[in-house]
Amino acid sequence: MAFDEDGQAESFERRTQICERAHRILTEEIGFPADDIIFDPNIFAVATGIPEHNRYAIDFLEATRWIKENLPGARVSGGVSNLSFSFRGNDRVREAMHTIFLYHAIQAGMDMGIVNAAQIEVLDEIPDDLRVAVEDVLFDRRPDATERLVDLAERVVQKEGGDDVKDEAWREGTVEERLGHALVKGIVDYIDADTEEARQQYSRAIEVIEGPLMAGMNRVGDLFGAGKMFLPQVVKSARVMKKAVAWLIPYIEEEKADSEEAGRPARVLLATVKGDVHDIGKNIVGVVLGCNNYDIVDLGVMVPADQILDAAEEHEVDIVGLSGLITPSLDEMVYVASEMERRGMTQPLLIGGATTSEMHTAVKIEPARSGPVVHVLDASRSVTVAGQLLTPGQVDEFVSQTKERYDVMRERHAERHRKIEFLSLEQARENALRLSFTAQTDPTPAQTGSWVIDEVGVAELRPFIDWTPFFQAWEMRGKYPAILDHPEKGEEASSLLADAQALLDELEESRALMPRAFVALHPATREGDDIQLDTPGGPVMLHTLRQQTKKTPGKPNRALSDFIAPASSGVQSHLGIFAVSAGDGLAPLVAAAEADHDDYRAILLKAIADRLAEAFAEKVHQDVRRGYWGYEKGDPHSSEDLIAEVYRGIRPAPGYPAQPDHTEKEILWDCFGIEEKTGVSLTEHLAMKPAASVCGLIFSHPASEYFNLGQLAADQVADYAERKGRSVADMERWLQSRLGYEPAN
Ligand code: SAH
Repeated sequence: MAFDEDGQAESFERRTQICERAHRILTEEIGFPADDIIFDPNIFAVATGIPEHNRYAIDFLEATRWIKENLPGARVSGGVSNLSFSFRGNDRVREAMHTIFLYHAIQAGMDMGIVNAAQIEVLDEIPDDLRVAVEDVLFDRRPDATERLVDLAERVVQKEGGDDVKDEAWREGTVEERLGHALVKGIVDYIDADTEEARQQYSRAIEVIEGPLMAGMNRVGDLFGAGKMFLPQVVKSARVMKKAVAWLIPYIEEEKADSEEAGRPARVLLATVKGDVHDIGKNIVGVVLGCNNYDIVDLGVMVPADQILDAAEEHEVDIVGLSGLITPSLDEMVYVASEMERRGMTQPLLIGGATTSEMHTAVKIEPARSGPVVHVLDASRSVTVAGQLLTPGQVDEFVSQTKERYDVMRERHAERHRKIEFLSLEQARENALRLSFTAQTDPTPAQTGSWVIDEVGVAELRPFIDWTPFFQAWEMRGKYPAILDHPEKGEEASSLLADAQALLDELEESRALMPRAFVALHPATREGDDIQLDTPGGPVMLHTLRQQTKKTPGKPNRALSDFIAPASSGVQSHLGIFAVSAGDGLAPLVAAAEADHDDYRAILLKAIADRLAEAFAEKVHQDVRRGYWGYEKGDPHSSEDLIAEVYRGIRPAPGYPAQPDHTEKEILWDCFGIEEKTGVSLTEHLAMKPAASVCGLIFSHPASEYFNLGQLAADQVADYAERKGRSVADMERWLQSRLGYEPAN
């Protein structure tokens, strides 16, 4: 912040002097990367009635322009809501001030800002008199600017609250109004009748889609884009649209015979890549783009590259979108990109899904082809990105800006990588975490062996559900239960939760899902960085990787095997294995919802099954601690404590940060017959199928905790490959994203 020994900078001169000095100290004296500097040159309230405050906005804007021109690499941020502080209580005026200020600040070079996203308007929707009055204040254009804005503010009507959905007055409107209302509010109750009424009024059925239905969906798209509607609402709107379209389709088919094909909407192909089964995010993107008049070709999950690209050619799609959740999907995406290049395909390639990132896209995927590659953070962004890619006046600039940004990211990534210092594997092992092992840290389990649990119903899993990730899946970020009271999201979050609870009631009643778990608990002994399990069928070797980057003094280089006692300790450790699934029985329910054009229900079902699988993992873990192993006594933990994982021990999942190697799952599946026991299979990229499944190891040592493995050096990968009896190249492929060096091929 523009802040020094003498306090906060208020003038242009002080702002620029302080930032210039900070920039010099950071870049020249301590070698801080200039690209990582973000200045906040202080946004203060204007129109306060105090004349000294009149130039606050101008000075911020000019300081921003100066910083961007004179301090290379630096970016500018600011707390925008401060600006309108004196109009607290009048959202219309505040929104107008934020919107107009942001418009000018962005022109001046501001890169980011902090603002209540619900307090922004569309610039063009601000009435002229208000806009002029706000600009008079911002640019200190007349002495009475503040009084005039205050006067106007008193006359500006406050926005009224939301309409009541239950209010049936909307049924009195014209058929167009009713269709629009039903779309925006997501009401399916009258859609067939209203659509039929419209069809009879228009000369052709297609005109109902092109006219009132598209108008309604555009309104939905605008509201969503403006942050005034949330994803679950959009998906409900899409359901209304789908039902209306389904009603019209037979008539359109009939009419087609005697009409020439009109210009078709832009077409987007979506697929979850080979070896991956996760599709909630992809389906949401499909719905959102569908709402924005894109034609979606959805190839489903586990789609090999050649099928994706054949379909892209066959359907002449304008954009190819890939999705994936597990780490091996990242490599598969690189492969699809290189195949596009080989086949000379030039369509833009969109990358999305939980493990994907802009950095990975820039570093690994974009270099694989010459055509545009864009990472899309979430469904809300997909509309803007697709729009820019397909608008002739915008695409070139958008593509070149993205390319430039990715270039910078690649450089920064390479620079960071060069700076990582590695220990040799031997040194890392010398700095291992050294725990003590006693009968207390490693209690003998009440029973060892393996068990299948298949009589657990939805009712018993519900108390273990962690709802926060559920809202995240719907792109509503915020912690449960606070999100239910959130001023903007609360209402929609509560309605989504009510739908989820109703679905859980239904699943509880119908017993359609068949949750199933496998648990085993066996003696375990550390062997180097590996763990040997003694099972009745013979020894099973599990492998772990050790952190290899140089740590600050006193910090160990950890491996999961550090939590298990070696034979020399004289103490016998144990290790649990678990795999749970709530996916059995789900597919027919999802298929029925899709056949009913109800994407909302289809996505809700999948999101709920994921929650039940995680809840089952939590329950199994508790059963192990309290029952099979039996070291946890006293009152059971509250559900908040379970979600915070405050209990003793951890359950790291293969493929996650402490053990990113997915191939360890093959060992578990082979040695314990997990597929036969739970019905969960592994895809060729070792995703669990059905998707609503979780597996992991269970450690009991009180000092065990999650960590991130970080990057690996070549000596460890070679050693690890040898221990696992696999080739180095094979292990390098599975550990791609963890390699701190360039592999030979
Ligand atoms: N309550 C959450 C639980 C899942 S996320 C939910 O319902 O979604 C937390 C889980 O991710 C942990 O229990 C563990 O299995 C896994 N995990 C988290 N950090 C990990 C790490 N560093 N290494 C391996 N697995 C990890």
